[in-house]
Amino acid sequence: MPDTARLPNNLVDAIRHFSDPDVATGFVAALRWPDGPVCPRCEGTDHSYLTTRRVWKCKACKKQFSVKVGTIFEDSPLGLDKWLPAVWLIANSKNGISSHELGRALGVTQKSAWFMLHRIRLAMQTRTFEQLGGEVEVDETFIGGKARNMSARARRRKISGTGAKDKSAVLGMIERGGEVRAEVVPNVRRGTLQSRVRESVEPGSAVYTDALRSYSGLDTDYAHKVVDHAERYVDGRVHTNYMENFWAQLKRGLNGTYISVQPFHLFRYLDERVFTFNLRERDDYGRFTAVLGAVAGRRLTHPQLTGRA
Ligand SMILES: [Zn+2]
Repeated sequence: MPDTARLPNNLVDAIRHFSDPDVATGFVAALRWPDGPVCPRCEGTDHSYLTTRRVWKCKACKKQFSVKVGTIFEDSPLGLDKWLPAVWLIANSKNGISSHELGRALGVTQKSAWFMLHRIRLAMQTRTFEQLGGEVEVDETFIGGKARNMSARARRRKISGTGAKDKSAVLGMIERGGEVRAEVVPNVRRGTLQSRVRESVEPGSAVYTDALRSYSGLDTDYAHKVVDHAERYVDGRVHTNYMENFWAQLKRGLNGTYISVQPFHLFRYLDERVFTFNLRERDDYGRFTAVLGAVAGRRLTHPQLTGRA
């Protein structure tokens, strides 16, 4: 296990701490394999460690494996001395960090930084299927289509028809005092929204939405109340303010940090904001280890990322 006496608690510490490749490898290995390294190929636990190359040699299948195999770090030419500070930065940035900023901070190209960001976001993806309950606010929003941030060519291409087609619909749900979920949805029609709500929210919960007609009918499974702005004073609990705060934070990040987000990648930015929001009570080290604990079993190749897979 990592030596708890000298764990980093800020970015500068983390950079210094993980600049030692043995420390970095040991740290990731301890998080990934709390009971000792396991061969990713045959799950063998009997192995020898090749100190100079920082790889394990499995005694069962005779293959060698590094701590990066089978994780978001696999096949990356960048060392953990770059990856771990990158994870630290992204896990602890409320509004996100651009690939330009990250590239400069780490001394890697913007292109490499962009790829790193997306791989780290993959680790940040919510993996729980636990339903929300109690009082749940449900709200939809539209994201994208910021013409002022586009090149002239992109602007001509996108702002041709209705203008709405380059906007993405996003559905969000938040349990008061609990977690938020947010996902890109193909539209905001009744069938689309209600099936997502029924999957994500325990029957019998109180559900608060705006007056969008797509939500009508939720009262068969929920104590559904509609926010009526004219009659807000009637019941102070019926509002979607927490969800609106989340949207504001999301949009602040998208507009301020990221010059333009293609709709294709929007869900990854959502994953990042949902992650930092849901772990808002933890400290920086806690968020950092939460991401690192989720790097295994996930891979994102360049063709997958660019949609050519
Ligand atoms: Zn093996």
